Amino acid sequence: MEYRRLTLYFPPDLTCRAFTYDLVKRYDWRINIIRAAISEGKEGRLLIDVEAEGEKLKEGLAFLIDEGIDVKNLEKQVFIEFEDCLACGACTAVCLPGALEMDKETWELLYNEKKCIVCGLCAPACPINIIKIGF
Ligand code: SF4
Ligand code: SF4
Repeated sequence: MEYRRLTLYFPPDLTCRAFTYDLVKRYDWRINIIRAAISEGKEGRLLIDVEAEGEKLKEGLAFLIDEGIDVKNLEKQVFIEFEDCLACGACTAVCLPGALEMDKETWELLYNEKKCIVCGLCAPACPINIIKIGF
């Protein structure tokens, strides 16, 4: 099984169709609706968690795109409460891609989002729990 958190954007002429029913019936998607903002005749938005087999997940995504629905894959992100950081460096020791480093002059924590692979190892390494992995 694969897991995705998706945002679906519906154009106004599609908001009255029951796409989640199709996805469950035809592609065996298990869907948890996190947030919905849909009203008939207006643009709609649906935030969902999906679990499905790899091929079924791809087929369901292709179906949505073919139907004219804009699908965005939400990626996890790292959030750091820098103002509370003790600059202990513990998180940098577990960050293999080097996204977290201590500034050699100021000894402040630096975070380079481009290097981060969102492995999540830094969160439990922080002794004061100021690193969160979320959406
Ligand atoms: S999530 Fe992984 S790669 Fe990203 S900053 Fe934390 S340890 Fe480094
Ligand atoms: S482990 Fe926590 S307190 Fe230490 S440098 Fe990293 S973010 Fe700051």
